[in-house]
Amino acid sequence: MRITMGDRKKGQDDGLFKTKGRVSLRALFSGLVVLTFLMTLVITLFASYRSEQQLLEERTLEANFRESERVGHAMNLLFVSISKSLTAFAGEFAEMAVLRVSSQTQEKLRLLYESSGYFTGVFVAGTNGQLIATYDGLPKYSQPERIDPLLLEEALATRRPFQSEPYLDIHGGMAVTVTEPIYTDEGVYLGIVGGTLHLEAPNVLGGLFGENEIDESGSYAYIVDSRGKLVYHPDRGRIGEDVSRNPAVTHLIQGESGQEKLINTEGKMYLVGYTYVPATRWGIVAQTPTSLITAQQLEQMRGTLLVVLGPFLILAASSLFLARRLAAPFVSLADFVVRAADRPQDEAMPSVRRHWNREADLLNGAVMRTVREMKRQNRDLNDFALKDPLTGLLNRRALDEALEKMEGDNRPFAMLLIDIDRFKAVNDRHGHAAGDEVLRAVARTLEETVEARDVCGRYGGEEFVVLLPGRNLPETYEMAERLRLAVAAHENALRIPVTLSIGGAVSPLQSTHVDDLFELADRALYRAKESGRNRVVV
Ligand code: GH3
Ligand code: MG
Ligand code: MG
Repeated sequence: MRITMGDRKKGQDDGLFKTKGRVSLRALFSGLVVLTFLMTLVITLFASYRSEQQLLEERTLEANFRESERVGHAMNLLFVSISKSLTAFAGEFAEMAVLRVSSQTQEKLRLLYESSGYFTGVFVAGTNGQLIATYDGLPKYSQPERIDPLLLEEALATRRPFQSEPYLDIHGGMAVTVTEPIYTDEGVYLGIVGGTLHLEAPNVLGGLFGENEIDESGSYAYIVDSRGKLVYHPDRGRIGEDVSRNPAVTHLIQGESGQEKLINTEGKMYLVGYTYVPATRWGIVAQTPTSLITAQQLEQMRGTLLVVLGPFLILAASSLFLARRLAAPFVSLADFVVRAADRPQDEAMPSVRRHWNREADLLNGAVMRTVREMKRQNRDLNDFALKDPLTGLLNRRALDEALEKMEGDNRPFAMLLIDIDRFKAVNDRHGHAAGDEVLRAVARTLEETVEARDVCGRYGGEEFVVLLPGRNLPETYEMAERLRLAVAAHENALRIPVTLSIGGAVSPLQSTHVDDLFELADRALYRAKESGRNRVVV
């Protein structure tokens, strides 16, 4: 289970965010940043959307109310002025004491018609319900059939200033008739003077709302009469329609003005301002669809999002970058630990760079210390397992390993089996401790005499094995002799004379198998002992 550079790289690329169900630090970190950003954005947008919506609605309601007030005020003035001019002429007719058909009557009517400029026709009627004179700007007189007799009757009966409900006139437009009673100074009721108005005429209602009846924002205004019927509406087809169910109109019918967010009779939500006009008892309604405000807000939000997108991308990129930098030490630490575990025998420590992130740096240090300690313990264990504690030479297990390796390498080598002569006697004569000292001394001499490439080990008791790579028979013999002579010549601390018997075998000359070589070397050693000890047999 080795992680090589290639593997790791591949793992990184394949699983940028996930590797076998494990979420990467990078994904976690960037995800967190993006989530935080998006949440903040959504909350901010939502909050600003709500507060802005409220503000916009309040402003629109206010604006619509002002507009309805403005129009209401103008209409009120218009009808007050109409009624005033009728009152003035009523006074003049009263001076005539009797109302009758005459050029004077006609002349006064013409004056009324032309001075006011509002009327499509004016008339005078007597108390008996008869039209006395009419004038509509055309050079002909008396067209009594143009005034609805019922309406005339009603106006006469009130004996007070009168204004009809709007009605469809013979031209198919909405009209209204306004009358004033004619009283003499003595208080005698003579009849009425009145006029009809075309509501859509530019100088009546048509001019009240300006050029655009429905402006680009979708806002528009309309007028309802005291019964809740449409008197004036940008959609001409709806004039005359009963809209009294509309909550704003309900208020107007009760003589109230105000502003409200409501659903109209067509089921659409509007921001409505409405004003009651006392002179006519009509109401003005100015309204804006809420969909317009929503659209405006959506447009605004799109703008905000566009502005925020840039910083967001920068943030996301830098968080990805930072997350990568943060995750890097973990990846290189994993690599380090794997390398350290792969070659526990290696003395050299693979290096790990210091990291700018404090926690990562601490972790680096801790792992380095741990691995160093692990290596030290490993070395101790190795010594314990492979070295002979008394002499410091390789033990039997290590020798077996070395032999196995040499056998496997298929290269020439020789093996020497070395046995101290009459060692039991040393123990017997000088004691076990002295025996140990002799063993150590022999080991040192052997070590010092062999070459660097050679291997020295204690096989057990007072028996040693020396492995000589790359030696042929004469060279093997020569080395064995050298060892024998060195030990014989070496004077140990206790001045105990020591000699060696040595048996040797050479691979591949005699055999390539360790077991066979052992057997051969052992037999040679036996012969050395047999033939008098302190000698070499190869
Ligand atoms: P030979 O010349 O035939 O080899 O005679 P020898 O006395 O050397 O042979 P033998 O095998 O009879 O005796 C080996 C002795 O080595 C027996 C044992 O007491 C001694 N010995 C083995 N291991 C140790 C050790 O670790 N320390 C000491 N002091 N003596 C040991
Ligand atoms: Mg022995
Ligand atoms: Mg011996």
